[in-house]
Amino acid sequence: MNPDLSAELDVLAEADERARRYVAGIGRRPVFPPDDALRNLRQFDEPLPQRGEGALATLRLLDEYGTPATVESNGGRYFGFVVGASLPAAAAADRLVLAWDNGALGHVTSPAAAAVERVAGRWLLDILDLPRDSAVGFTTSATAGTLIAVATARRAALKRLGWDLDRRGLGGAPQIRVVVSELAHVAVRKALRVLGFGADNLTVAPADEHGRIDPARLPELTSATILILQAGEVNTGDCDPFDQIVPRARTAGAWIHVDGAFGLWARASAHRDLTAGVDGADSWTVDGHKWLNTPYDTAMVIVRDAAALAESMNSDAAYSIASADSQKNLTFEFSRRARGVSVWAALRSLGRDGVADLVERTVAMSTQIAAGLREAGYTVHNRVVLNQIIASGATDAETVRVISAAQESGRTWFGGGVWRGRRVLRISVSSWRTRPQDVRDLIDLLGELRRQHRLQSADDHLLPDR
Ligand SMILES: *Cc1c(COP(=O)(O)O)cnc(C)c1O
Repeated sequence: MNPDLSAELDVLAEADERARRYVAGIGRRPVFPPDDALRNLRQFDEPLPQRGEGALATLRLLDEYGTPATVESNGGRYFGFVVGASLPAAAAADRLVLAWDNGALGHVTSPAAAAVERVAGRWLLDILDLPRDSAVGFTTSATAGTLIAVATARRAALKRLGWDLDRRGLGGAPQIRVVVSELAHVAVRKALRVLGFGADNLTVAPADEHGRIDPARLPELTSATILILQAGEVNTGDCDPFDQIVPRARTAGAWIHVDGAFGLWARASAHRDLTAGVDGADSWTVDGHKWLNTPYDTAMVIVRDAAALAESMNSDAAYSIASADSQKNLTFEFSRRARGVSVWAALRSLGRDGVADLVERTVAMSTQIAAGLREAGYTVHNRVVLNQIIASGATDAETVRVISAAQESGRTWFGGGVWRGRRVLRISVSSWRTRPQDVRDLIDLLGELRRQHRLQSADDHLLPDR
């Protein structure tokens, strides 16, 4: 064999072996890395080598000092943010895609990727029960998907008003209003900011005690409005009442976008009623890398008017003309990773039943955690309809201490937040690896911490507000 090729195969085998060791060790390391592992990250702080250090030595350094300083989010005891782990089929498919190294802009650069992503898109519309002739773009994130969807919505709204955005730009264009929930995710606010919708141009829709837009207080909608709804609020997990809001918005002629980063997956399960009426919207974003448990950089933007998305994201040039459903004409990227392949692999390996089971199992565990927390004396602030739990101890200071102690324990990791002025701990159950034992361990730990930190509450006034 050609010696270069043989060296390459050695490196791949080494990477494979080290990756397998990492996965085999899941559940046995601290969930957040200890201080010595963090200090050792200094090992990476070296000058750029003049002469290359070689592939094997480079890989070894990464594993030796990188691995111990990872967070075990690819495990069952991590309950922070809404992250999910990686399903074996999805992670393995991504590895094969790496070997292909096809830029997946369309058929011309990868017939395989184009075909598989087309099927993944079709299956996605099927499992989420969204309009079947929508276009599906595989993007890096729900943030990017929202940017794409809102840019498409604005372009379409201006077109209806007789304004050609592509030619005339935004200067002097008719005003398009955006209505968002007071609890819209920061990623949505960022997408709007980047698109030039300043905070003062947003009309904020008040939310109820479950974190859902209150239909009785919905601002006025017109055909020059983009209304952004939410499936899965990051604190409560609740969904806006689509069946009450969507018909009104449609009658007004507004464009309805739904941020369903994780919550839209409820639709693939016995909890689908939470999302009743969501299929009446015009566009949706949903992540693969959260609840579907694909590797990172995998999300979808879905637009009912396929032509509107393909026109808005068109990147055809004389040397590269592709069909309207080529991914380069549905997303930002021209050169791109075939990120839809891991979605295809996840859906094919789980099937409809497996996805429903993943969602239903994690929701059931969330309900169990909420019950355990109540029993341990915490106040649970949401009604736990999906996979999010927010809870607090007797005082803000106690809650903050419990969060830090849990993070430092190495036995779990979750973060905190603020809900209606109270400090809360935020727990999200979104990993396919989370087992009943992980849930029991979490409840036990939180019980212990509550007992320890309640004893200190007399000192609360001494603590700086963090
Ligand atoms: C995570 C999240 C986002 C952002 O998604 P990314 O894929 O991380 O960009 C947006 N909205 C909600 C509700 C989320 O939970």
